[in-house]
Amino acid sequence: MANSMSVKAGDRVKVIAGKDKGKESRVLKVQPEKERAVVEKVNMIKKAQRPTQRNPQGGLLEIEGTIHVSNLMLVCPSCSQPTRVARRRTDDGTRVRVCKKCKNDIDK
Ligand SMILES: [Zn+2]
Repeated sequence: MANSMSVKAGDRVKVIAGKDKGKESRVLKVQPEKERAVVEKVNMIKKAQRPTQRNPQGGLLEIEGTIHVSNLMLVCPSCSQPTRVARRRTDDGTRVRVCKKCKNDIDK
């Protein structure tokens, strides 16, 4: 389900698997339909760039590749721990994410 993504753009996350394991960074965007995310400076890939007027040589551009969200763990803004996410429904019916470690709401 698309809205069951545990991370959102702007979240701090810790990479728990893959070549950037251990890095902490910020989610730039998510692709809920693929359950993938783009995380700042994580899973960098080299992309060939075509020559342009400004850069007649062309060259290799380093950009963020996507990473599967199962390789990421949310870093709780309250306790700064990488955590799994619980959910609860607030009084007005919105679902918010809750840190399983400190039990504080992640979404304010
Ligand atoms: Zn917490």
